[in-house]
Amino acid sequence: MTSDRCRTGRSVLIADAAVDAMGTTCQPAVVVLDGDRIEATGTPQAIGSTGDAPVTRFDGHVLMPALVNAHAHLDLSGDGCWAPCSDFRAWVGRIRAMRAAMDDAQRQTAVAHGVALSLAGGTMAVGDIVAHPADAALRALVDSTLRGIAFIEAFGLGAMQQDAVDRFASRAGHRIGRLQTGFSPHAPYSCGEDVFSAAAAMAGGVCTHLAETPEEVELLTSGTGAFADMLQHDIGLPEAALPVPGAHPVDHLHVHLHRALCVHLNCIEPRHARLLAQAQATACLCPRATRYFGRDMPGPLAMLREAGVDIALGTDSLLCLDTPDRISTLDEGRLLFAADAVDPIDVLAMITTTAARAIDVEPELVDLRPGPTAGVLALPGASLEDVLRSTAAPMWAAGPF
Ligand SMILES: [Zn+2]
Repeated sequence: MTSDRCRTGRSVLIADAAVDAMGTTCQPAVVVLDGDRIEATGTPQAIGSTGDAPVTRFDGHVLMPALVNAHAHLDLSGDGCWAPCSDFRAWVGRIRAMRAAMDDAQRQTAVAHGVALSLAGGTMAVGDIVAHPADAALRALVDSTLRGIAFIEAFGLGAMQQDAVDRFASRAGHRIGRLQTGFSPHAPYSCGEDVFSAAAAMAGGVCTHLAETPEEVELLTSGTGAFADMLQHDIGLPEAALPVPGAHPVDHLHVHLHRALCVHLNCIEPRHARLLAQAQATACLCPRATRYFGRDMPGPLAMLREAGVDIALGTDSLLCLDTPDRISTLDEGRLLFAADAVDPIDVLAMITTTAARAIDVEPELVDLRPGPTAGVLALPGASLEDVLRSTAAPMWAAGPF
């Protein structure tokens, strides 16, 4: 079996099955491509003769669309996978030290490695968080085939909020290769309300880590706890600059989260899920990162679904993963499936079409219906359930285009 990266000419893929999140299911399956377009997908009987187009057989495999990763930190791909951690404050300290020690060349190399691992994971688009200073990371994204949004990240509390707003303004409306820029106020415990409102007012998507930990909720509601200590003692923030609106992060910020991508949401209640649905926000869950920190997984999933919030999956950083050879939301979906939390087709939507819409990528690029495609993956098995039960890495049967 070989990968077909050809952008022109007809080609045919034959496998035991093909499946997407838009209702395509066939066993066995034929996918007919014309360059980077799908001409037809169906059973051999439905497709009929394909003339003299070259055929590649994927016996014992399932064909599926390329994947979307709605939340990544590709700049944290230079240090492999770290052992699981239950001390979030210590982990933040370790990340800060690592970032401070990196120079531009190391940042660019780390992002380039993250891009390569994403492609090895069958990924065609990312919602990548680009930390300051952004230029080296953006250089590594320019030449990649990845689509999606590069969310420029900023931290800003108290008097530092204006610096964060200026950082967003300097990048508004940029394109980086096939990606566009968006804005990521890092989290409610690291950005004041002015930063969130400025991000919401700019052209480009918004992404934030939201209601990730009980410590974040305690800080915002009462000004106490481990995050209050972290901000004052580890980071040197004056007490007067602590973000203490006296409300849960979602109650406090939902007015600035219209159509935003809200990551984690481990510590919400049903009314918060309803507020996010009203804001047309998309929830991005990162099941392996949740497990990495010893938290309940699948966490808020049922509550978000009940409220009608769109749900996408992301990987968070490679540091939290257990696959040093790839960064793939397929492995996130596998964890949800193993937890018996979601139907297989719903898992597939969370890592293809729903995730694509959340980062402004055309969802038709990640289905198997006739039209443009970002590529086709082949996974060992005879059904989507087999794919979700296995641990195999995706293989590009066609593309990435
Ligand atoms: Zn993250």
